Amino acid sequence: MDAEQAELVISRVAHRTTVLGPGVRAVVWVHGCPLRCAGCVAPEDLPFEGGVRRTVADLAAELNALSADVRGLTLSGGEPMAQAGPLAALVRALRRDRDWSVMSYTGFTLEHLRRHGTDGQRALLAELDLLVDGPYVAARHADLLWRGSANQRLRFLTGRHAPPAEDRSAGLEFHVADDTLAWVGVPPVPGFRETFEDAMAGARTPLAVAVPTPNGEDGHGVG
Ligand code: SF4
Repeated sequence: MDAEQAELVISRVAHRTTVLGPGVRAVVWVHGCPLRCAGCVAPEDLPFEGGVRRTVADLAAELNALSADVRGLTLSGGEPMAQAGPLAALVRALRRDRDWSVMSYTGFTLEHLRRHGTDGQRALLAELDLLVDGPYVAARHADLLWRGSANQRLRFLTGRHAPPAEDRSAGLEFHVADDTLAWVGVPPVPGFRETFEDAMAGARTPLAVAVPTPNGEDGHGVG
């Protein structure tokens, strides 16, 4: 089958953020994760049932239609390495139109993926500029750039991005669309989601949560 007709199962897409990776980026949250990090901030994205099916070609067309200042794509979830082959095809399709910076979260370590990864996982690794690796560990939650716990590492896989001068949270963004409020980012303190949802429930405001889970064990569910 043509790689661009392969299907991805995703939870949602954000067209613009500055808190999940370098510069201005789009985000694709994939659906389904084989790991179960205690404190994962996106438990609704863990089952492999459900989600939205999109072909690689369809999603690439949506992302390449974004304004030209959106130069990065961040893959979160859910576990991107559970759909690594189609995601690698997505990156290749995107880069035919634009020189995208690509970052991914994963709950697996880079060393594990290099030694034991599938062909698809190795193919996705080969496309990445930046990987946030390792499971989310609630007991090690910390105020860190783009990740939720201190075991998670920024792995610069190409020379496109340099390690940051300051390793602190990039903060959170709040997006409003169709009467729904969603937040994006990695909370610098644990328990943010519960506190936020309780507050919004009290305000009787419709709420949808869009959170990066520091993947696999980096907690795409950043806490
Ligand atoms: S934090 Fe990431 S790796 Fe861990 S269970 Fe949640 S989605 Fe999976």
